[in-house]
Amino acid sequence: MLLALTQTLDKPMLMTISRTLSGIFFSLVFCSCGFAAEDRKDTQVVILGTGTPIPDADRTGPGVAVITNGEAYIFDAGGGMVKAAVQASQGLGIPELYPQDINYLFLTHLHSDHIHDVSELASGRWWGREQRLSIYGPAGIAEYVKNMVAMSAIEADIRAAGTPEQLVTDRLGYVANAREIEDGIVFSNDDIVVEAFTVPHGEIRPAFGYKITTRDKVIVISGDTTYSELLAEKAKGADLLIHEVYSGDRLSQQSEFWQDYHGNSHTSGAQVADIANIAQPGLVILTHIIFFGASADEIVAEVKRTYAGDVVMANDLDEF
Ligand SMILES: [Zn+2]
Ligand SMILES: [Zn+2]
Repeated sequence: MLLALTQTLDKPMLMTISRTLSGIFFSLVFCSCGFAAEDRKDTQVVILGTGTPIPDADRTGPGVAVITNGEAYIFDAGGGMVKAAVQASQGLGIPELYPQDINYLFLTHLHSDHIHDVSELASGRWWGREQRLSIYGPAGIAEYVKNMVAMSAIEADIRAAGTPEQLVTDRLGYVANAREIEDGIVFSNDDIVVEAFTVPHGEIRPAFGYKITTRDKVIVISGDTTYSELLAEKAKGADLLIHEVYSGDRLSQQSEFWQDYHGNSHTSGAQVADIANIAQPGLVILTHIIFFGASADEIVAEVKRTYAGDVVMANDLDEF
């Protein structure tokens, strides 16, 4: 019966029904929507992409998904992030990651490796969107999205002209909303609070890290940054610290130019250890990995040399 029902309903309708049911469940079970211990609900984290600007067949561009109470919140949309979301929705059984049902995107900064898939996420199957994509990011994102929408309109006009109206949920479904953010709480609802804080990423200003608080988890995402004491403070006691990393051992064998460049823009394994020693998170998850020829094990070992807590190197589609 359920199978027959699901076969006759399309994806957006199923998602709406699923959200409505989960909303009713929440209302019935919890009379208040505070962050009290008794209303805790499991939050899932999926690392969609662990790569860098350097093309890598095994590592998609940066992206982290936080899924809580039937909604996915995405942090960065590097190249391939949308494909990874499809894989997660279908392969890992996380329907919230079906791209047209993703409603919230937060960007750490506007480097291309973090935004290549913004357009794909906003405009992919736009005609089936129930809610337009909201994009939160640093100064410049409004102009970027304005131009992106103008670009997408060309295709949308062509498609709309040849598509029966009843198949179009929202004629302007590709029109994403952009909000330029500053330090502080940039988004909150009953399920999640998202706080942005500035991180030092060379000359790229502003660049943000995020602290995400749900009913049952605190997650800190470094974005692209060099060593940051503020980040260590924000990550104090977090369940998950998702931090970028490069191999400091290998960078020391590179030219002075690259040592300066990466030293000012990114974080070595030893520096991740320093941050983790201050923050003492439940788990350090390494991502946006610049190997410089080192192996994954060598980079994890570099962190563990001076940090005794749990550390893992993320792979695409890892779940936490
Ligand atoms: Zn990057
Ligand atoms: Zn960057």
